[in-house]
Amino acid sequence: MIRFENVSKRYLTKTALMDVDLELPEGKIIGVIGENGSGKSTMLKLIAGLVRPSKGRVLVDGEPAQRRIARKVAYLSELETYYPIFTVQETVDYCASQFTDFDRERAREMIDFMRLEPTAKVKSLSKGNRGRVKLVVTLSRNAPYILMDEPLSGLDPIVRDSIIKGLISFVDLSKQTVIITTHEVNEVESLLDQVVALRDGEIIKFADVEELRSNERLSLSEWMTRVYAGHACK
Ligand code: ADP
Ligand code: MG
Repeated sequence: MIRFENVSKRYLTKTALMDVDLELPEGKIIGVIGENGSGKSTMLKLIAGLVRPSKGRVLVDGEPAQRRIARKVAYLSELETYYPIFTVQETVDYCASQFTDFDRERAREMIDFMRLEPTAKVKSLSKGNRGRVKLVVTLSRNAPYILMDEPLSGLDPIVRDSIIKGLISFVDLSKQTVIITTHEVNEVESLLDQVVALRDGEIIKFADVEELRSNERLSLSEWMTRVYAGHACK
């Protein structure tokens, strides 16, 4: 289980997260939503142990999140972090050599499913196919926590659709928890069980998506449009 205990994160003068107190359930797909700059990437980096809290603690299965936690966390960065001179297969081989929980058979199935050419150089791929490669290497790990930072941003609808289908087919929610960030909630609405809505580094809502629908009679994207539009008028 992932716990944020009164966590704040400051970068020099900028407060990226403020007093976040949160317990994320296991075996769910959780969306962290919010506008650009609201603190979404910072939340994921704190869980992955890539940055440290300025205040409070982030616990992953009771242990403070630090780099060592990397074995439990498969983290898909918003950046393009692979080696462009590698082929798709070399990228998979490299990741398999880095993580003991890497499942080569699953990688092969996903490459097939995503219709990627194993011998193609990563740098020659379209943006959509590079996004698919990132998904393959992230989801081929048997890590209990899968963190994905904006995996769909800037991709066209067909690519988004195949990535969402890949996610559904290759994640095992009986053993894994997925946390996915987005600033365009309608992309992933159908996928989410829970939602953490951030605004200027603070949590303004943590809810079950179904409950939000039944209690407020709004879809997540309708709800978000209202909340964020209200903010803009203040
Ligand atoms: P999001 O992912 O929602 O766009 P981030 O977590 O990346 O938000 O950033 C939250 C805030 O913290 C933003 O105002 C951003 O400019 C700032 N920030 C993020 N990383 C750094 C950093 N390394 N140094 C200084 N400020 C940062
Ligand atoms: Mg971000």
